[in-house]
Amino acid sequence: MEIREFQNLMRQIYYQRDQQRGLAGTFVWFAEEVGELAKSIREGNRENYGEEFSDVLAWLASLANLLGVDLEQAVEKYKKGCPRCGKIPCQCG
Ligand SMILES: [Zn+2]
Repeated sequence: MEIREFQNLMRQIYYQRDQQRGLAGTFVWFAEEVGELAKSIREGNRENYGEEFSDVLAWLASLANLLGVDLEQAVEKYKKGCPRCGKIPCQCG
């Protein structure tokens, strides 16, 4: 699934609830999921990594939908390599 497709799916599933919850509440949930990912990494809980990444991505997509940010455009920034040095891999000192 491409990132635009994923964002659209998240919009279809959650946009109404995301709107009702609002930006601040949605950001708090996003931060909580990042915290859960951090906890999994800290505990070396490898079997949870995939699920935690799913949740972080879903909440990031919810935020992007609320803010009208196109994630497909967001990834364009890195399309030609490191945005600072333009190299792949990054050669920044
Ligand atoms: Zn660089």
